[in-house]
Amino acid sequence: MNVNKQETLSFQSEIKQLLKLMIHSLYSNKEIFLRELISNASDAADKLRFRAISKPELYENDSDLHVRISIDKDNCTLIISDNGIGMTRDEIIDNLGTIAKSGTKTFLKSLENDLVKNNKMIGQFGVGFYSSFIVADNVTVRSRSVDASIDQGVVWKSSGEGEYTVANIEKCDRGTEIILHLRESEKDFLEDWKLRSVINKYSDHISLPVEIMIKNEKDHQITWEKINQAKALWTRNKTEISNEEYIEFYKHISHDYSSPLTWTHNHVEGKQEYTILLYIPSKAPFDLWNRDQQHGLKLYVQRVFIMDDAKEFIPNYLRFIRGILDSNDLPLNISREILQDNVLSRNLKNAITKRILQVLEKMSKNDLEKYQNFWQQFGVVFKEGPAEDINNNKIISKLLRFASTYTNSSLQNVSLDDYVSRMIEGQKNIFYITADSYVSAKSSPHLELFYKKGIEVLLLSDRIDEWMMNYLQDFEGKRFQSISKTDEFLDKLANDNLKTEQKILEKELDSFIERAKKILGDRVKNVKFTNRLTDTPSVVTTDVNEMTTQMAKLFMSVGQTVPEIKYNLEINPDHPLVQKASKVIDENIFSDWIDIFFGQALLAERGTLDDPNLFIRKLNKLL
Ligand code: ADP
Repeated sequence: MNVNKQETLSFQSEIKQLLKLMIHSLYSNKEIFLRELISNASDAADKLRFRAISKPELYENDSDLHVRISIDKDNCTLIISDNGIGMTRDEIIDNLGTIAKSGTKTFLKSLENDLVKNNKMIGQFGVGFYSSFIVADNVTVRSRSVDASIDQGVVWKSSGEGEYTVANIEKCDRGTEIILHLRESEKDFLEDWKLRSVINKYSDHISLPVEIMIKNEKDHQITWEKINQAKALWTRNKTEISNEEYIEFYKHISHDYSSPLTWTHNHVEGKQEYTILLYIPSKAPFDLWNRDQQHGLKLYVQRVFIMDDAKEFIPNYLRFIRGILDSNDLPLNISREILQDNVLSRNLKNAITKRILQVLEKMSKNDLEKYQNFWQQFGVVFKEGPAEDINNNKIISKLLRFASTYTNSSLQNVSLDDYVSRMIEGQKNIFYITADSYVSAKSSPHLELFYKKGIEVLLLSDRIDEWMMNYLQDFEGKRFQSISKTDEFLDKLANDNLKTEQKILEKELDSFIERAKKILGDRVKNVKFTNRLTDTPSVVTTDVNEMTTQMAKLFMSVGQTVPEIKYNLEINPDHPLVQKASKVIDENIFSDWIDIFFGQALLAERGTLDDPNLFIRKLNKLL
């Protein structure tokens, strides 16, 4: 193929979808295209600076780098040009013709034909360069890579309707020029006052000089006026930075359209010298669950951009944190491999983790509403904390929030401190139940005794919960105890109020247990009476050392085989059905009764049965 020839190529189908969506959804906030383009120019300068670490001859002087914005009223165009790293022909095709981020692709695929919902969703990821098409009916990109010679420039053109062209051109200077031919309705952006106000808003936090063209009316001489401070935001004094600047900087680095929940900005001098600016977003990205998702901090060393998504400084359970780290001690030529195995980065990670946990702790005390917002968005990820970060277990435990029988709502807003303050006399353990859903946790027969005695139980129904509970041994000396396990305290509690008649009843029912054991054989570990139940005839429990049902499910969901759980069948001697069954003399019919007691207890515990049809047949027979 002759690469000098003009080629017409088709956008990847996801891009077509994105373009359509964007034009529909972002009409109320059109000006953001400038933020995106300035942001890209700033990234291009950062990338060039980084390349120059090992190849200083790439450019003359750091202060030469800039982005320039100019207008051409006659042609109705707005031009944004930078002298950053530029793009080669292949890069331009890759970067502007396809969506590389697999998360975005999956997200777009998952969109339904629901415009209202889609409109809300689109704000969750950066639309980047394509936002040009909100205001432009034609976009031309002229670029020359730092690696290319004058005659290896490239021009890209599109009207945003499915196709684009690329061709080689001569381009004298390095970098990228974006020429937007504005739609008739968007000519406002050609007005000096309008342009200035928008650029001001989106460039104050940018460390690259942003300049606009000034044309002398008389002699038509052109000069450039710098309209931002062009100083890396995080190097400035906290007191001089407005909230708006912090928020805009967040949007620049995170590609998130919503404002962050909060941030922390610190300059630390000590064994190591570094600056961090960390943000807690207010909305979870659509691929938060994906542990491989891009995350981590933007790493700078002595103000030089080194890499995006440096994961080494943030533990996995805090992977939603966005921000920058500027270290004075890491070497400029540091690579990802070295970062992974480096004492300095480990220490930084510890310090950063502590910092974030402190911010969360403060928020949990001073601003409940914000903290609840945080928990709703990121609680499921934060719950990986106890397993991942043993050292900070104490503070992590304090930050956890649960649904509970006390609040009687699926909202996870009960802290362990709240729980402990409501424990009854003699209660030593923190009780919890894990289930597939809030509803099934809440209506579990195991809870009957607790409702009766007024003891609070934490209701856990996120997939991660069972896993997390394995790592939470105790909280302030109180052990965590699953209520689906056998427990002395519970037995004692249940027997305390036992009516005398019931005790007698138990004796009368003595042969019941023996008969049931014979029928169930080694399908169960044990059969016994329980006083923990009121409305339910039977329940299954596991011994303290046995794997719980939820844990087994968790293992099976990731394809692991687990040994079969041996349950204890516990029978409520007070229940009319049990009493009725005890009077059945025919051993075959009695056996059906026992199967039904066992079957329904299993069903309540696991949500499934090995042979549901058999169960239904037996049930119908008795009915
Ligand atoms: P994002 O910036 O989120 O990666 P964009 O769609 O805005 O997404 O841009 C896609 C890619 O195109 C960028 O990652 C970058 O590699 C390249 N790019 C965009 N603008 C420029 C520019 N001015 N100079 C060099 N490369 C650019």
